[in-house]
Amino acid sequence: MQLDNLYQEVILDHYKNPQHKGLAAHFDAQVHHINPSCGDEITLNLTLAGDVVTSVSWDGVGCSISQASVSILTDLVIGKSLEDVEKISQSFMELMQSKGSIAGDETLLEDAVALAGVSQYPARIKCALLGWMAFKDASVQAQAKGK
Ligand code: ZN
Repeated sequence: MQLDNLYQEVILDHYKNPQHKGLAAHFDAQVHHINPSCGDEITLNLTLAGDVVTSVSWDGVGCSISQASVSILTDLVIGKSLEDVEKISQSFMELMQSKGSIAGDETLLEDAVALAGVSQYPARIKCALLGWMAFKDASVQAQAKGK
């Protein structure tokens, strides 16, 4: 897989220095998601205060794309409202479905635009989306619990 060199570096940096890795002891929801086609696994803990994401922590194993993507996600969503996170997620989904035709909105997606090249490799898109799917699942569970 060939990605832009600068983007490759962003991905490797998150892979080697993962953000918010190490599960928090307290959480509103915990989910475990796997991507069997690649062998990626992620456990993700989420805490909300109202509709604001106050804590996301995770642990996982797998390829650099899957692990970097969840690290990037945590940096993006902590401190934001679920409404804002939804906008970011939608934008990331569009990017992943773009087959390389769009570069991604860097103001919204920040480091996640580094994953743009992944959209040209259908087998790897699931790797990039694993953490995002886990977050979505956890946010639904955490909201259900808060009601
Ligand atoms: Zn993978």
